[in-house]
Amino acid sequence: MDFDLTPEQQSIRKLAKDFADKEIAPGARERDRGETFPKDVLRKMAPLGLLGGPVPEKYGGIGLDYVSHALVTEEVGRADSSVNGSVSKLALVFAQGDPAKEAKGITAFVLERDRQSYGSQALHGKLGLRSSDSSELILDDVRVPDANRLGEIGDGFKVAMTALDSGRYSVAAGAVGVAQACIDASVQYATTRKTFGKPIAGHQLVQELIADMVVETEAARLLVWRAGDLKDKGRPNTRETSIAKLYASEAAQRAADNAIQIHGGYGFSDEFPVERYWRDARVNRLYEGTTQIQKLIIGRFATGIDAIA
Ligand SMILES: Cc1cc2nc3c(=O)[nH]c(=O)nc-3n(C[C@H](O)[C@H](O)[C@H](O)COP(=O)(O)OP(=O)(O)OC[C@H]3O[C@@H](n4cnc5c(N)ncnc54)[C@H](O)[C@@H]3O)c2cc1C
Repeated sequence: MDFDLTPEQQSIRKLAKDFADKEIAPGARERDRGETFPKDVLRKMAPLGLLGGPVPEKYGGIGLDYVSHALVTEEVGRADSSVNGSVSKLALVFAQGDPAKEAKGITAFVLERDRQSYGSQALHGKLGLRSSDSSELILDDVRVPDANRLGEIGDGFKVAMTALDSGRYSVAAGAVGVAQACIDASVQYATTRKTFGKPIAGHQLVQELIADMVVETEAARLLVWRAGDLKDKGRPNTRETSIAKLYASEAAQRAADNAIQIHGGYGFSDEFPVERYWRDARVNRLYEGTTQIQKLIIGRFATGIDAIA
């Protein structure tokens, strides 16, 4: 087993880290306060090869390997999770054409904003990811030509599951980034703030909070890399991706909670970033399949019994 990153992976990680520190992190608090999506940041990421991830070049991506994709997503998530969601001119939707066939009656379609007149309603007042432009899609009498069908008729559920294997992986990598940001902020604060004549990092109970964060973040990162390694080898990875997504999203939430605790009263104010990390981490336990759904997938692999439906 080789845990060393290749020179190419180290180099894209450094590129993403430098970009995240210089271009993404500085405006994160103001964007969160104003619920503004950083389109300018996204525009700068594209020419550097920090967008498009593992999508092959012939489809407009940059064909990154999955471990590199996780490294980039982690660095972006460390600076501001909201940047990991992005604006789109395409929508992947699923239509149930034959309810009697249940999952086998579902077909997938790609909607193009320029060609199909579907609406969208921006969501405001979110707990976290406030600067990400999440929208509700409104499909009212939208006609979609057969040319926009993705996969065979009735294969929509399979398409959705494949998309989830990919989406869950990105969520997991972004969550590792949030957890790492919590460690960085906590170490910085705990080595500076003094009580009872010494930095709070010198109090054993504070150090325990930090040690717990370090262990869980490293474990989450390794789970993400294992899932990425399987993807890069073209091997089945639904189970491993679910484990990574479940663990990383829960670990990020615990890390953010510890980080607030370490910051004391300041942790409750947006003068420091850790309350935003806590709010942003929350959604990772919901989307791309809730924590409960991940547990049911992992449990199904362990027992052979499907307890979801
Ligand atoms: C900011 C944001 C962005 C999003 N972006 C997208 C997007 O781009 N595309 C998209 O398709 N969706 C998106 N979603 C939707 C998201 O994926 C769903 O909200 C999430 O999967 C949960 O589904 P639900 O809201 O219908 O909850 P429900 O399915 O109603 O679940 C409610 C509760 O019941 C539990 N539950 C449900 N079924 C079971 C079961 N069988 N066994 C045990 N427990 C169960 C769940 O775990 C949860 O705790 C987004 C959501 C948010 C908040």
